[in-house]
Amino acid sequence: MRLEEIYSAYDKIVQSGYLPYIRCKKCTHTFFYVRHCCPKCGSRDLEVLRSEGIGKVFSWTKIFRKNDTSIYGIVELGEGFKVYCNFTSDVEIGDNVRVKIDSLGDGKYKLLAYKL
Ligand SMILES: [Zn+2]
Repeated sequence: MRLEEIYSAYDKIVQSGYLPYIRCKKCTHTFFYVRHCCPKCGSRDLEVLRSEGIGKVFSWTKIFRKNDTSIYGIVELGEGFKVYCNFTSDVEIGDNVRVKIDSLGDGKYKLLAYKL
């Protein structure tokens, strides 16, 4: 797949309210951040799929700023790929979360994780 095709497929899935991801057809490796080839085996035979958006907290950290505190970290989705996202409440490693994605335009996205 060409990068433009991947971004276009991502946009369609995000517009329908789901989290997209990429699966390598050669080695089945899954990943979220857009690339034109598989980071594991280098194949360009990729497909863009729709995630259920359910995963577990892999790691988290609290960021303290002058006027607010935010919780940021990594979620491992059920399909096997990981994403960085903002958590909407306190979490612990292993907690089940739902990840929602919002488009900010220009191929940029905001990921929020809600504790289940
Ligand atoms: Zn691969």
